Amino acid sequence: MLLREQREQVVEYGKRLVTAGLTDGTFGNLSVFDRDRGLMAISPSGMDYFATTPADVVVTDLEGKVVDGVWKPSSELDLHRLFYQRRPDVNGVVHTHSTFATVLACLGWAIEPVHYLVAYAGRQVPCIPYYPFGSLELAEAAWAAMGEEYNGCLLGNHGLLAVGGSLSFAFDAAQQLEFLAKVYYYTKMAGGGVNLTPGQLEAVLGKFQTYRQV
Ligand code: 13P
Ligand code: ZN
Repeated sequence: MLLREQREQVVEYGKRLVTAGLTDGTFGNLSVFDRDRGLMAISPSGMDYFATTPADVVVTDLEGKVVDGVWKPSSELDLHRLFYQRRPDVNGVVHTHSTFATVLACLGWAIEPVHYLVAYAGRQVPCIPYYPFGSLELAEAAWAAMGEEYNGCLLGNHGLLAVGGSLSFAFDAAQQLEFLAKVYYYTKMAGGGVNLTPGQLEAVLGKFQTYRQV
């Protein structure tokens, strides 16, 4: 089977999306990029995460053409492939409808650096306006907001996007950005929030380069 290991990862992390409470039903999607082959393994559109097997995961090239698989790939194919095409450091993409990130995306609020875990995304978490799900406009707007600078963003009236050097990193980012969104929401509801200073932010971004086991 083409990209067996990557397809297995998509299945495993898809289940984790649900068990970690990061998405409901069949929403959200995830992918892994094999840079040597120039192919990605992406979740099938609208399929129950617990019913999905490695053979159900779809393999496409970076133009979005299906190379192996029987099902339709995720409707957010463009959202995933643009980052693999344009960012050599990105090999995993996770999109969720996690609750607090989605609440902020519906408010149209970017997340300010109130907690150091903002470093998972960068110096803030940008928020883009609404675009229809599955559209190239949505993918291009997320790219325009994130570029090389951010690893996460809020998709207006929709949810969260997180990217990383591997699917494991992208998943971690999605999970921690949901925590950050919750903290930010409660902080704002409590009437305040003290942002990290630019110096504190740069220091934590530096420390994140070496956080976790290599
Ligand atoms: P898919 O099931 O097609 O991946 O779409 C889910 C989603 O979240 C669309 O934004
Ligand atoms: Zn979505």
